[in-house]
Amino acid sequence: MMGNQGASQAPLFYAFNLEDHVPRDHLLRGIGRFLDLSDLRRHLAPFYSHTGRPSIDPELMIRMLVIGYCFGIRSERRLCEEVHLNLAYRWFCRLGLEDRIPDHSTFSKNRHGRFRQSDAFRHVFETVLRRCMNEGLVAGEGFAIDASVIKADANRTRGVPDGEGFDWAQGDGPTRAVREYLSALDAGNPTDDPSEPPTAPPNPPKNISLTDPAARWTAAPGGPAFYAYSTNYLIDLDAGIIVDVEATPAHRTEEVDSTKTMIERVEKRFDLKPKRLVGDTAYGAAPMLNWIVNDKQIEPHIPVWEKAQRDDGTFSRSDFQFNEQSNSYECPGGKELTTTGRPTSESTVLFRAKNEDCAGCAHKQRCCPNTPHRRIARSIYEGARDVARTVCTTPAYEQSRKERKKVEMLFAHLKRILKLDRLRLRGLNGARDEFLMAAAVQNLRRMAKWLAPKAENGRLIPV
Ligand code: SF4
Repeated sequence: MMGNQGASQAPLFYAFNLEDHVPRDHLLRGIGRFLDLSDLRRHLAPFYSHTGRPSIDPELMIRMLVIGYCFGIRSERRLCEEVHLNLAYRWFCRLGLEDRIPDHSTFSKNRHGRFRQSDAFRHVFETVLRRCMNEGLVAGEGFAIDASVIKADANRTRGVPDGEGFDWAQGDGPTRAVREYLSALDAGNPTDDPSEPPTAPPNPPKNISLTDPAARWTAAPGGPAFYAYSTNYLIDLDAGIIVDVEATPAHRTEEVDSTKTMIERVEKRFDLKPKRLVGDTAYGAAPMLNWIVNDKQIEPHIPVWEKAQRDDGTFSRSDFQFNEQSNSYECPGGKELTTTGRPTSESTVLFRAKNEDCAGCAHKQRCCPNTPHRRIARSIYEGARDVARTVCTTPAYEQSRKERKKVEMLFAHLKRILKLDRLRLRGLNGARDEFLMAAAVQNLRRMAKWLAPKAENGRLIPV
């Protein structure tokens, strides 16, 4: 006989335990073991009023955001719907079946308000990192640095060639992202007259977005240019834990500068300083290598940024031998190139051959065919560059080169699994908030994957 489903959907009492309905090997169970937000309320307390109606529990909002980043649910409206419907999400948020879910607009208010003022997302990120350290996942011996470009929430057709002279106050007045951009300009480039708008930076980008002016107009290889930010990761190479993250406009100079910010911050906050730092050529410019080698005493596992290599058949600088004792170069013709020792504006000193040496030299056409004598520019940081060159010839460097893939894999994971290939929040602060939460979630996922007990078939053992 064909069965007939009963129509009673509204019994008066349920005997229902949410805990029993969350699969024992659900990812959120693993994450739940390592996420401790007990300190969040104390951190946020100064930013809440002692009177008035109680607001939404900040821990609930952070737990919901963890779910959002963990499962690539980027829309806050959808996140609220999912938490409402999904039993595992409710369980992770410590909500009962009948508890109300916060409205999606509450997220926006808190994200741009208290959470940002109190740096709550960095607090969450650092709490998770501390747990990783306590679990022994951070060795602190080798760090890797890299950056990845993430599209800004800005239409590529809504831009002006440069921001100079543009009336940002038109329409309903500047948006939050525009206000942040103008105050950052003001702080970096103040004018004498406070009524004057701040002037653009000395090297303004080609296009400035009217929606999110702090985003950088970036040319991607093989595709049209777009507005973007960069997420910069500093990771520990032992287990690939992200030890710091920094948001910058998608521009190489700012990406490289963030290295100093992150290395200093991790040392100050967690007393962690690596013995070696692994990076690609972008981080191999002379001033950066000097900072790594001489200021921080860290071994640079970074290829040197070489501009002196020539590919037109003439001698490159590497064909000239430097003599440290006499502070001079010996050319392939056996002559000496000397210097006055005066640095140029590009932090180099010039070494020159004598006109009479070059005039009668058999190598003249391969050395300096268009000038009376040959000149060699040597960086004032050449010592640090030499250290990096030496490291690059060692087997340890080869190992570091392989390990560098760990940070690239984290970026691939960020974009493919966490679906963070385009930001939802605007402004540099929005990018910072998103990158911090995403990095915290990546660390949580790693702990859940690595530390939760597993059966022989690789599945998580129920906890
Ligand atoms: S051209 Fe001058 S610098 Fe070059 S190899 Fe000859 S002597 Fe040396």
